[in-house]
Amino acid sequence: MQIDKVYEPQRFEPHWAQSWIDSGIYRANPAAPGRVFSLVIPPPNVTGSLHIGHMLEHTEIDVTIRWRRMLGHNTLWLPGTDHAGIATQMVVERKLAEEGITRRDLGREEFEKRVWQWKEQYGDNIKRQMIRLGASCDWSRERFTLDPGLSRAVREVFVRLYEKGLVYRGEYMVNWCPRCHTALSDLEVAHTDVAGHLWHIRYPVNGMPGRFVTVATTRPETMLGDTAIAINAKDARYFELHAKTVQLPIMDREISIILDDLADPEFGTGVVKVTPAHDLNDFEAGRRHNLPKIKVIDENARMTDAAGPYAGLDRFEARKAVVAELEKIGALVKVEDYKLSLGTCQRCKTPVEPLVSTQWFVKMKPLAEKAIEVVENGRIEFIPANWTKTYYEWMYNIRDWCISRQLWWGHRIPAWHCQECHEIVVARETPSSCPRCGSEELVQDTDVLDTWFSSGLWPFSTLGWPDQTTDLATYYPTSLLITGFDILFFWVARMIMMGLEFMGEVPFHQVYIHALVRDAEGQKMSKTKGNVIDPLVVTEKYGTDAIRMAMLQCAAPGTDIILTEARMESSRAFANKIWNAARFLFMNMERCGVEPWVPERLEEFLPEAEGGDVPIEDRWIFSRLNDCAQQVNRAIETYRYHEAAQLLWQFIWHEFCDWYVELKKLRFEDNSGLTAGWRNILAAFENTLRLLHPAMPFITEELWQRFLPSRAQRAPREGELRSISLATYPQYRREATDFAAEREIGILQEVVTMARTLRTESKLDPKQQLTGTLYCRTAALEVAQRHAEAIRKLANVKLEFKAEAAPKAPAIRSTAEFDLVLEVPKSQEEAKARREAKEREQLEKNIANSKRQLSDEVFLSKAPQKVVDSIRAKLADYEAQLAKLS
Ligand SMILES: [Zn+2]
Ligand SMILES: [Zn+2]
Repeated sequence: MQIDKVYEPQRFEPHWAQSWIDSGIYRANPAAPGRVFSLVIPPPNVTGSLHIGHMLEHTEIDVTIRWRRMLGHNTLWLPGTDHAGIATQMVVERKLAEEGITRRDLGREEFEKRVWQWKEQYGDNIKRQMIRLGASCDWSRERFTLDPGLSRAVREVFVRLYEKGLVYRGEYMVNWCPRCHTALSDLEVAHTDVAGHLWHIRYPVNGMPGRFVTVATTRPETMLGDTAIAINAKDARYFELHAKTVQLPIMDREISIILDDLADPEFGTGVVKVTPAHDLNDFEAGRRHNLPKIKVIDENARMTDAAGPYAGLDRFEARKAVVAELEKIGALVKVEDYKLSLGTCQRCKTPVEPLVSTQWFVKMKPLAEKAIEVVENGRIEFIPANWTKTYYEWMYNIRDWCISRQLWWGHRIPAWHCQECHEIVVARETPSSCPRCGSEELVQDTDVLDTWFSSGLWPFSTLGWPDQTTDLATYYPTSLLITGFDILFFWVARMIMMGLEFMGEVPFHQVYIHALVRDAEGQKMSKTKGNVIDPLVVTEKYGTDAIRMAMLQCAAPGTDIILTEARMESSRAFANKIWNAARFLFMNMERCGVEPWVPERLEEFLPEAEGGDVPIEDRWIFSRLNDCAQQVNRAIETYRYHEAAQLLWQFIWHEFCDWYVELKKLRFEDNSGLTAGWRNILAAFENTLRLLHPAMPFITEELWQRFLPSRAQRAPREGELRSISLATYPQYRREATDFAAEREIGILQEVVTMARTLRTESKLDPKQQLTGTLYCRTAALEVAQRHAEAIRKLANVKLEFKAEAAPKAPAIRSTAEFDLVLEVPKSQEEAKARREAKEREQLEKNIANSKRQLSDEVFLSKAPQKVVDSIRAKLADYEAQLAKLS
């Protein structure tokens, strides 16, 4: 039963982390009784290692799942990782670059092998870290998005969507990264405001000598690919230009003038250039007007042969050259400074190039309609609710999703191109011949799917879909998703659409969006700023429980979390406080020869009588515990983690440790009646540990184990571990509420606190016992009097009790019911006088010194003004202090 003197979480946290996993106690069992509560992890990138944001996310999930498990629910927390297409490919490519080779040197097959090798070597990082941090997930159900089962689900979904006409292949304007050589979804493009220019170029109108139209562009090099200019049909300034053409400068090409809403009469000159091959809006206008597309920039961001004299130049070199030429031929009207939003590749920061290419798409409108409906009718709830609006905004404006990526790492698109007749075969299994011409020359599409395509299926692919497994029947739909706002569209929205399409049911009922963890200055953490908090470093330093508590305390919904060292330190002090209380209790048990004891049916236990009465502090602590349990249950249920943490903190530190344990200390000193009383103490403490367990799993498990009759059970074997995490969670019971006891202890606390405050305010020696009088004209006086002995010991004050009004006195403190007067002993008064005389003497000396300096002409003539000013300020300060003392 012995407890180490010092709280050192490093000594037992790894042990429990491993024991929980080895014993398999968090393995889900579809046949288990209880309400089902299931949740899938937002799969971290397999390339990654845990950052503090993960730790927050996992802590919130873990609190919820541990709490549900203790409520007796049939719980599943399914863990896993994402293959993270582009991110992982880049990591391995960087490694290859160190060896001086590229993926193209290796070839596709060899490169894929290298990525798998890399995954074998580092892919377990996340898992190891999560285990160490105590995540109570079911590792037997761990999934990876490239697992055979999940890959099968991906193919099945692709084929079904294709057969339904929701997957199509088309020419479209995509965001192209010239570095990564792949199309990017809109969401993978980062936008930053940069200082750019607006170049005004004039185009001569054919057949109207001397007439020009002026267009403005931020990318003059694209004018080489213009195939029209647009004006608005309603724009009176340009009525005479209808059906005319203009001559494209430099290229000397005749291009048409189209009437299109693309041109806004209110904006600029009301004329815009149209480059269908290099701008999305122009691409669409081009479709409307059947304009040719002239591609002047290629996949490497170099100018094509169609760019005439600029062929082969980089796009930014070409820009300079084009501008110079326009200026030379007098086509450049003016250049303005202009702030523009530059789209860059989220991964490599290269400016993206809008390019037309043939890609695979998912038609989103039909999928989005249902996904909007389920949020509107409340089948899915976002918490905090303001995210609902953000969700709708995106869903109403949804565009088709480009799902093909020109990468090597990921799910290869299950489409085969016939080399003979160019038929495209989409199939679940690799076809052996072309169904149209019978040719066996079939080549699989070289593209892979956007990584979010497979994670969009995560809630059901991980449970065995397309097979109708027991897991799927039991745990889908999942109950809850806890995730960050940054992947609301990437992931959450797509899971909703895919879940509805393939399961006919929402993937989860609630989505809790957690906040961002920021540093002490409120700044976002980033590697470049160097303010990143590594969860493994701080947990090693303070203990996992302390970091969890520190984060939970400020995890109010919708508010960012400021994680400071001070907060982690104080959380560690909180754990230490619990540790010391436990040590004190267990030491006294040993001294009294008491065996550890847990009531058979805790949910029915009420404090027991000892020598006739139930000790008042036992009645009180059970009543307080009951109140705390009621509030903490409610707080966790509504994702008010900060409230749960603060309630636990307040109860454990400021009620259990500060008062209950202190009052018990007095009993131990008396040595009076320590037999039956122990059952109350142990039940209260054990209950408290259970209440705290979801938030601080390690310390509670370590201490709870000491309640077990046999220490041999500490080592798990054969999947058997008696763990606090499988015990029941304390619930509110009407019969445990005891208002009389709360009132009585409340009075005791009030008087003790008054006396302590008064002592501090009057600067009286805390070690010296004082005498005083408590005045009170209500029945509370009698209650206080009953606890005269406890007050004497806790506040070190011997009181007299008087049912009358208090006289005016120097050392007095009053509350609504009480007036407390302390007698200041002679010795303390003399000490105070001596202290004050000394202070006065020092001040007088300082004043004299300052005055001397300020009247010294030589000093004043040499000293800088700043010094003189500061002496004057000091002098005024000394004089003020002296006046106050007198
Ligand atoms: Zn890139
Ligand atoms: Zn064919």
